[in-house]
Amino acid sequence: MATANRLEQFGETVFATWSRLAVEHNAINLGQGFPDFDAPEFVKEAAIQAIRDGENQYSRSAGHPLLVEAIADTFELPTNAMDEVTVTCGSTETIAAVILGVINQGDEVIVIEPFYDSYLACLSMAGAIPKIVTLHSPEFTFNEQELRDAFSDKTKMIIVNSPHNPTGRVFTNTELQLISELAIKHDALVLSDEVYDKLVLTGTHIPMATLPNMKQRTITLRSLGKVFSVTGWKIGWSVAPSKYTVAIRSAHQFMTFCAATPLQVAAATALRAPDSYFLEYTAQYTKRRDLLVEGLRDVGFNVLSPEGTYFVLADHTPFGFSDDISFCHHLVKICGVVGIPPSAFYSRSNEGKGLVRFAFCKGLDTLNNAVERLQGLC
Ligand code: GLN
Repeated sequence: MATANRLEQFGETVFATWSRLAVEHNAINLGQGFPDFDAPEFVKEAAIQAIRDGENQYSRSAGHPLLVEAIADTFELPTNAMDEVTVTCGSTETIAAVILGVINQGDEVIVIEPFYDSYLACLSMAGAIPKIVTLHSPEFTFNEQELRDAFSDKTKMIIVNSPHNPTGRVFTNTELQLISELAIKHDALVLSDEVYDKLVLTGTHIPMATLPNMKQRTITLRSLGKVFSVTGWKIGWSVAPSKYTVAIRSAHQFMTFCAATPLQVAAATALRAPDSYFLEYTAQYTKRRDLLVEGLRDVGFNVLSPEGTYFVLADHTPFGFSDDISFCHHLVKICGVVGIPPSAFYSRSNEGKGLVRFAFCKGLDTLNNAVERLQGLC
């Protein structure tokens, strides 16, 4: 085995595996979360213009001034663009830069499962000890005592993701208050992964940093790709108190140095889009969600309609398969549809085995075709 011990156990990321299987089987890919429709013209034009304008060399490592200013201006709290914002190659790099920049070997980090798969791999690279708290199906809520028990005097950080991938939950004020109370009590940081902050279809997203006394211990993570359908641009960022920003940048500078300069300039234009853009964006996503949720229910899945993100986590147990992986193999081979088997997002509980994640960041035609193909399960 050539792969280092710290990464060997993680194998290939589930997103790469299932996107490849989608291509091999010519299946409709509702697996990895990327839109099958194009980015808005004004965003593409801004990138083309930036290239023509000669924005083609390295940018400032922590982010192009135009973009960090736009991020600070559109953040919910007063923010110092130059000292508190760091732009990275996608939020997956921010996660790595935060963990490698802040966490010491042996620190405990609380992770809520199901989780985005890079969290545990990055914690392993940093030599951290993950403490897992489960969101229990069918409501995908955590048990208060289990959360309290996960905290100790070694807790350095808790990773919170809301709107939550893959359950689609948007954490309530009560849930966030409890997390903040425990973080303050144990003097822990919160890595608040809010990459789906603009994709709230039901309810309200409360940014962790806006809770009382939380700004000074919260690292907020956001992303361009989901909001402007440019997941391939790989533009993400953190907003964090300056001392944590120094730590994040200490890792970021040695991983990628900077994100692609013309795309950062275009991102600055995108973030300053009028409110009407965001309203239309959520209206379209509400249609997509409702079509897929209703379609899945007709086929026979048990589905909790997601409040946010562009994912649905459906219960496949009515179809009688032993686990999520065999179910997803059947789906791609027999129905021609790819979903993600969520057991890759769990390390403590077996609850992922009865579930499948579908992405609805797809045109209505694609979603209708997928639902039609899924009728083959009946
Ligand atoms: N966030 C995306 C998802 O959950 C995947 C991102 C990636 O593949 N790196 O599908």
